[in-house]
Amino acid sequence: MHSIRRKLSIIILACSILAALLTAIFVNITINNKFNEYMVNNQNKRNDRIVQYFQELYKRDKKWTADSGSEMKHEAFMSNYCLTLLDSNKKLVWMMDPNDIKEKEHFNTLDSKKGVFTTNTFSIKYDGNVVGYVQIGQYSSVLLSSDDVNFKLSINKGIIASIFFSLLIVIIISLYISKQFSVPIREVSNVSVKLSNGEYSSRTDVETDILEIEKLKSSINMLGEKLNHQDLLRKRLVSDISHEIRTPLNILQNNLEAMIDGIIPVNSEQLTGLNDEVIRFGKLLNNLNTLKRFEAETISINKEKVLLDELLSVLCDDFSIALKEKNIDLVYNIRPDKDYSIIGDSDKLKQVFINLLSNAVKFSNYGGKIWINLTRDKENIIVSIRDTGIGISREDLPFIFERLYRGDKSRNKIEGSGIGLTIVKDILTLHSASIAVESRVGKGSAFTIRFRDID
Ligand code: ADP
Repeated sequence: MHSIRRKLSIIILACSILAALLTAIFVNITINNKFNEYMVNNQNKRNDRIVQYFQELYKRDKKWTADSGSEMKHEAFMSNYCLTLLDSNKKLVWMMDPNDIKEKEHFNTLDSKKGVFTTNTFSIKYDGNVVGYVQIGQYSSVLLSSDDVNFKLSINKGIIASIFFSLLIVIIISLYISKQFSVPIREVSNVSVKLSNGEYSSRTDVETDILEIEKLKSSINMLGEKLNHQDLLRKRLVSDISHEIRTPLNILQNNLEAMIDGIIPVNSEQLTGLNDEVIRFGKLLNNLNTLKRFEAETISINKEKVLLDELLSVLCDDFSIALKEKNIDLVYNIRPDKDYSIIGDSDKLKQVFINLLSNAVKFSNYGGKIWINLTRDKENIIVSIRDTGIGISREDLPFIFERLYRGDKSRNKIEGSGIGLTIVKDILTLHSASIAVESRVGKGSAFTIRFRDID
């Protein structure tokens, strides 16, 4: 296993070396070809010049002697080529010895025919007639002087130096770039390890300008947030359940012990009290069971047309006795002449409104007021249930839809199970509907449900 930093550095470096080598080879070949082309051009000009020279010589002397043009020999020797002068019958006038220049190290190192003596014959003309021939021979198709060789060498050295420096720069850049990737990824992975070890408060604030890593970072932070939240809920759930179980059990135990010791009499009044506690205990288990059924996702919904306006008005009648008991005023507002039908399960939707309305009644004081509003906009049918009850504290608000969550401890006086809103949320989710809550302690609460209009 390699670290991301090492892996990235190796990849960048390997690519750079390959690119540098290919560039070097390409540049070298191109320069060599162009240089040889240039030298061959020069050689052709030189040949023309030599022929021109012998033509001028013949024009002056009108014959060939053993000395004709011998001053060229020195230049030829210095420039590593051999001259041979022939007359018009191709009889030798004079020639240079190729062995004299063979001893000199002057072959073009890139020439495949190096060391092979080749000659080119050019005719010397006067007044349109061929009066002689000059042969120019050399050991390499392209003759290079030491300056030429040095020039080529310095170009190659330049290429090697530029490769070296560019690789150095690439190494520095690759270390920097790989750090940009590796540091935030390492940070995020450290946080995920901590989260998996139960340190739910771990977060990362590592800086990155890479979109994917930024997304990864925020999702791992969000995961931490959720795990923390779930952990809190779990702890609270355990403490709530144990509290709920302990209370009836303690009452039962204390009363039964007192009865055994003869401190309190065993009569039907005492036994009824104990029975009430057993019933409370049973209710708690029933609630847990109901929740389990809902959460098992085995619940399916019957799809039928439900007229929300009718359903709500029937419900208002059903609640009349409960409302009268607490002298609560219920106002049912409905914007007329609109279609309030949705596709859903009427029994389950009724359950939703019963839970919300009974909470509104339960948490309202004597003489309170409840509003049920039914409206619709272009996309949604909106039901809101608002009360002037005791309200929900800001700390409780994010948790009220969680399983077995009940508002702050003072509410323990008000009977409840903490599953009503969980069931509401589950049923609405099955109907692709949303629920939102706004509340202020002492002022009241408002629950707003939005059903997507499917027509
Ligand atoms: P329960 O009502 O049985 O306690 P719910 O799931 O119905 O359980 O509600 C969860 C909590 O939300 C309640 O304990 C209460 O604190 C709060 N709550 C719900 N509805 C209201 C309301 N209308 N007014 C004030 N508090 C409410």
